[in-house]
Amino acid sequence: MLSIVSQFGLTEWWTPEKILDNQFNKLGLLLAHACDNVPYYRNTLKACAIADPAHVTPEEWAGLPILQRADIQVAGENLHSGTIPRGHGRVTSIYTSGTTGRPIRVLRTERSNLIWCAFTIREHLWHRRQFRGKLAVVRNSGKGQDPYPDGTRSSRWGLSSHIFKTGPTVSLNINCTVAEQVDWLRREDPNYLLTHPTNVHRLAIYCLEKGIPLDNLRQVITISEMLRPDVRNVCRAAWNVGVADMYTGRDVGYMALQCPEHEHYHVQSEGIFIEVLDDDGNACGPGETGRVVVTPLNNFAMPLIRYEIGDFAELGPPCPCGRGLPVLSRIIGRQQDMVTLPGGESRWTLLSAGNIETFLQIAPIRQYQFVQNDLKTIEVRLVVDRELTEQEQDGIRKWVVAKLDHPFTVIFSFVDDIPRAASGKYQDFISRIEA
Ligand SMILES: [Zn+2]
Repeated sequence: MLSIVSQFGLTEWWTPEKILDNQFNKLGLLLAHACDNVPYYRNTLKACAIADPAHVTPEEWAGLPILQRADIQVAGENLHSGTIPRGHGRVTSIYTSGTTGRPIRVLRTERSNLIWCAFTIREHLWHRRQFRGKLAVVRNSGKGQDPYPDGTRSSRWGLSSHIFKTGPTVSLNINCTVAEQVDWLRREDPNYLLTHPTNVHRLAIYCLEKGIPLDNLRQVITISEMLRPDVRNVCRAAWNVGVADMYTGRDVGYMALQCPEHEHYHVQSEGIFIEVLDDDGNACGPGETGRVVVTPLNNFAMPLIRYEIGDFAELGPPCPCGRGLPVLSRIIGRQQDMVTLPGGESRWTLLSAGNIETFLQIAPIRQYQFVQNDLKTIEVRLVVDRELTEQEQDGIRKWVVAKLDHPFTVIFSFVDDIPRAASGKYQDFISRIEA
């Protein structure tokens, strides 16, 4: 692992051309392996007429079919490789539910797990963490696990402790209330806090309102959901710390990490090939937003070739930091987060794009969620401190109509709590419109 991590320290500075060349070498190996050993690809790739899969060209690659989550469900074991190259180690499997409600089973090898660990360490190194510090983790634990008031503790940081001597990890279940989490954080007094963006947003607001410092906190690390820009501002205001975000998927591993010097993301090209495609399937250029299509380069047990994971992202120009790894300037959530207009057109709600503060200033809103149940109506679900005035409700209606840029009928439901999805993710927009 130390060797892989030190190689990362070289490859991240390669030119974009050299990185792409190297990726196509790996894509060739993967494709040839898939054609020879995976029933699903033997059938689907036969029609693609690739002269030599081991030396696939970018033009040929762009003609390969896109793999959808539903395809993976249908293919089942036909996506499993009959044999696995020597040195990839034992095969294990995990289930992922995603936010789509379409669970899939994904195979991994010891080799793909090793590379996963190496990216974890790169992330710590990029953000200059002190490995001896205390790491507090608030995430989706199983029901009843990591309970308040004590959570659970471990003497080390998990994966990174394979090659670094680390401080302890303390963990609490994300379904604990904000007050419980803050009480626990004050007692634990960690150096780093790893959690979901929506959770840390609520924690920081709470601490800001009550004037609660976390004196030894150095940085917040966010995972698993789209990071709204206001989360960074609130963390700085509450605790005077920055946020390092990462873009990962349980089924595909690390996709992108926040640049050590900027707020955008670098694709983890040593482990994954990411394409950002427009509606016609053509590659997007810098500044353009499109569908994220990924090919993990190291999973030979269950190759996922051109897998459309359901997220959208905006491609960025090369990074001034000098790393050649491609840049994603924004990650824009999932198709389920898109609003559908009566004519059938879908567009991103862009709730993440900045001015959610203007919404929160309208009324004493604790939690919110927008739900599109049909083509004409948006349900605004709110947890509020007190009953809203007519004027406040009117202000919210106007904000929603302006934000979504369509004269929807806005209805309200007031609830005590808006729970997370089973995956632990918090969705601020849910579309119940069938695609
Ligand atoms: Zn950079």
